[in-house]
Amino acid sequence: MLSPSLVVPAFASWAFLVGASVGSFLNVCIYRLPRNESVVFPASHCPWCNTRLRLTDLVPLVSQLVLRSRCRYCGQWFSWRYFGVELLTGLCFAGLAWRYGFTWQLLPYAVLTAALLAAVFTDLDCWLIPDELTLVAALAGVGYDLALLVRHQTQMLRVPVPWPGHEFQAAVPQSVAGMLFAGGVVLLVGWIGTRLFRKESMGGGDVKLAAAVGAHLGLTAHLLSFFLVAVTAGSAVGIILLIARRKHGKDYLPFGPMLAGGALAVLFFGQWLTPALVRIYDPSVLWWLLAGHS
Ligand SMILES: [Zn+2]
Repeated sequence: MLSPSLVVPAFASWAFLVGASVGSFLNVCIYRLPRNESVVFPASHCPWCNTRLRLTDLVPLVSQLVLRSRCRYCGQWFSWRYFGVELLTGLCFAGLAWRYGFTWQLLPYAVLTAALLAAVFTDLDCWLIPDELTLVAALAGVGYDLALLVRHQTQMLRVPVPWPGHEFQAAVPQSVAGMLFAGGVVLLVGWIGTRLFRKESMGGGDVKLAAAVGAHLGLTAHLLSFFLVAVTAGSAVGIILLIARRKHGKDYLPFGPMLAGGALAVLFFGQWLTPALVRIYDPSVLWWLLAGHS
């Protein structure tokens, strides 16, 4: 038996290895999904010499390191980004394991994290977030919520519905409410942006990605802090790129990575981040400051 002080580090290390393997699969998804190719067939092969890669060429992190990022058969060089995605996924999974421990909650969050990481890179590469990613992430969120409802470990959200004659309350699962709200917000912002700037500012992929995050966070303060982090990060990155003259005012800035960053920040640090953000953005604090108490 492991000593109690070693259980969490051991579990996190195991999660790191699982994450690195998942990252290896995400590399396939990132390349193939935007091209509408199957993520299962054909098996991994070198894109230059077409040699089918063997299991020893596909060990996450290790193979690329040992081969110094070159193909064993033709010597062509591969981007270190494949290594980076495996490492990042491993670290995120280890972080989730550390944060949530050996709980069922870990499973849907791991699915969401994997989908978010893949979406970041497809959005950067192709300005596209494949439906497969957002669908799997949303299903994990709704599925987990429904499982909790069946086991009476959570409750439906009661939404008052005005109806001629009498008002009644509709019972909606948290995940569905969060999904509709988050997707709706991005859809609305995108619609206003398109009207103002006369070009598409948010894609359908952004709407679906936000909805998938909403399915996990529900209609809660965490959903609010997800949006606050995403918008703050988006503005900061936009301003930095403008100052560095890497971007002109009319250039397109993919919003998927900001949404993913906001969601990951809440998954990892929500318990501290959300109360702090609610305090900062609370209108009553604004009034208090304006009244000269600063
Ligand atoms: Zn090759």
